[in-house]
Amino acid sequence: MAETKYIFVTGGVVSSLGKGIVAASLGKLLQARGYRVTIQKFDPYINIDPGTLNPYEHGECYVTEDGHEADLDLGHYERFLNIPTSKANNITTGRIYQNVINKERKGDYLGKTVQVIPHITDEIKRNMMILGKTGKFDFIITEIGGTVGDIESLPYIESVRQLRWELGKNCLCVHLTFVPYLSAAKEVKTKPTQHSVKMLQEQGVQPNILVLRTEQELSRAICRKVALFCNVDEDAVIQSYDVPSIYEVPLVLAKQGMDKIVLQKMDMPIERKLDLARWEEFLNNMKSVEKVVKIGLVGKYVELPDAYKSINESLLQAATYHKHKLDLHFIHSEKITEENAEKLLCDMDGIVVAPGFGQRGVEGKLIALKYAREKNKPTFGICLGMQCLVIEFARNVLNLQDANSTEMNENAPHKVIDIMEGQKNLTVMGGSMRLGAYTCKLDKNSKAYQAYQCDSVSERHRHRYEFNNEYKNLFEKNGMKCTGINPDTGLVEVVEIPELKWYLGTQFHPEYNSTVVRPNPLFMSFIKAAIKE
Ligand code: GLN
Repeated sequence: MAETKYIFVTGGVVSSLGKGIVAASLGKLLQARGYRVTIQKFDPYINIDPGTLNPYEHGECYVTEDGHEADLDLGHYERFLNIPTSKANNITTGRIYQNVINKERKGDYLGKTVQVIPHITDEIKRNMMILGKTGKFDFIITEIGGTVGDIESLPYIESVRQLRWELGKNCLCVHLTFVPYLSAAKEVKTKPTQHSVKMLQEQGVQPNILVLRTEQELSRAICRKVALFCNVDEDAVIQSYDVPSIYEVPLVLAKQGMDKIVLQKMDMPIERKLDLARWEEFLNNMKSVEKVVKIGLVGKYVELPDAYKSINESLLQAATYHKHKLDLHFIHSEKITEENAEKLLCDMDGIVVAPGFGQRGVEGKLIALKYAREKNKPTFGICLGMQCLVIEFARNVLNLQDANSTEMNENAPHKVIDIMEGQKNLTVMGGSMRLGAYTCKLDKNSKAYQAYQCDSVSERHRHRYEFNNEYKNLFEKNGMKCTGINPDTGLVEVVEIPELKWYLGTQFHPEYNSTVVRPNPLFMSFIKAAIKE
């Protein structure tokens, strides 16, 4: 069996260039050539994982099947490659140091002084190769978070330098930079790219491939100039110009033969033709859509669409499969009042109530839900959104005054959403929620069952609070059914009001496993109902 190949993706000049998309797109192309690929992300921050981070910091917290709270780029990797990632696919500096310090406390370093070089870099290298050693993959693509030149990324770049030396042809570096267009000078500028490559070279890493992010297509002359000044083969200067959808990026890279260049440089055979048939079908659907489906996403992070990344993408995928253009409106939950709810929501074909933590914005979500329920609008509540469906129903249909979640009011007279027994005495916040994939049994007479077409599903979780089963009979008698149950614990996973067109909430997060070639059935079903609107 051929040895595992390692591809590192670094970024320079500015952040937010879309390294994750480039890594995912390259992975997609190698996969489309018949190779087994996984992508991992190394983040230079000290948090052990992004679970404790506010979405304002790095956007959505993604969750893997094995219950790891991960960087949102793992969501891109899964949406592009259609294979699950795991805890091993996302490492932070915090985890590296934690491992090293634990080893030091155990005496594993046998009296040595523990240092960044070699102990931290060795631990980074060990982690970079964990997935490669499983024998499950031909290619491991590693995205290094941050920008070259940041102090905190130094140990990562040094680790890449060492691995290149050790692995030879089995290792390749792709560096992503930015080529700005100065409108006053009417020119594109390559100097920032040259500087960024110099910085990488100073740290001992010569990139094999450059990907230039640019707003508009660059001339060959520009690419030639970059190649000459950066010691990179001319055909290995790839450009990634702006395209209407991130899902077009693999095609942009394929057009320039990036996959072939990678395979050639790594001495890998190019046997299979690039098979992107399903991907292209999806893109063709996207281009040929005529009608529009208008969805209102009610949440408190409206100024930050990345906070709901996976939901946005799931809605887009489902709309595209239904040959509709997604017109997504972010509606600020804190700004919804009894007076303006109608105005804000009446135009929407469907309403999604977002996940979240804490009291802020919850009352607005409840007002939106009352409106949606009374007007019989297709409505989808996810995690906190589902809990809000329950609270709103308790207050306004069951007349349980001040019903609430323990999270919002510990002294609520009716805690229809309550803390799980196992969560009561926790003192640490990180990694301590109910996380990852759990099985859910679906009631055959439900919208959820109709959507999935099977009675047992597995979906991912990230929460502390749960539907309070003491109230289950009361809810069911009055028209809100618990149609999805965890078979091991009896916890409620799905609620719906069968009488309404499509009014459903899930305690789990179906958005985490929706991919381009396999959209999540609940999003498909919700969008279908919204289109009928
Ligand atoms: N805050 C809620 C809980 O912890 C919901 C979490 C979420 O929406 N992800 O149960």
